[in-house]
Amino acid sequence: MTDYVTEAFVLKKETWNEFDARVMLYTPMFGKMWAKVKSSKKILSRLNGHLEPLNKVMVRVVEKNGYHIVDALRFGRVSPLILNALPLLDALTHEDVPDARMWGVIRSIPHDRDLLYPSLLARKMLEVGGFAPLYAECAICKAKPPHYFMMHTTLFLCDSCIPYSQMMYDEVVSI
Ligand SMILES: [Zn+2]
Repeated sequence: MTDYVTEAFVLKKETWNEFDARVMLYTPMFGKMWAKVKSSKKILSRLNGHLEPLNKVMVRVVEKNGYHIVDALRFGRVSPLILNALPLLDALTHEDVPDARMWGVIRSIPHDRDLLYPSLLARKMLEVGGFAPLYAECAICKAKPPHYFMMHTTLFLCDSCIPYSQMMYDEVVSI
């Protein structure tokens, strides 16, 4: 059993089974990770508010058949305006692969009073993820710069071509 304390950004929270929850975190130590939160011993009810998506937290994680959060403390929260860009972080990263540059991008997201445009955040994440928008062109008409990134196909599209793509809205990120 190993015990870690790390800074983390909360990406998602889901009900795990009837009583427990699991949380997707982005951390400097593990990159993207899923960690469970037990409802027993009232851990979940105590930590629930700290583990909301968009929160910046310090977490204590125990590794034993997966990761378990045993303590969490929220120290900041980022603006819901960036919600549209967050699926990109999940799409561009793998579990248990730390990435100091990606962590740097996530860590630099300001707390909720300072605005960060979601498209700017998306461009930074794409750059770190190896899909630099600066050099990209529309996959259909080759126009530069493209305005959208398709997460499932990792293709860029421009404003004029997006109506002709068959993509669902939730697969598309504005850049
Ligand atoms: Zn185009």
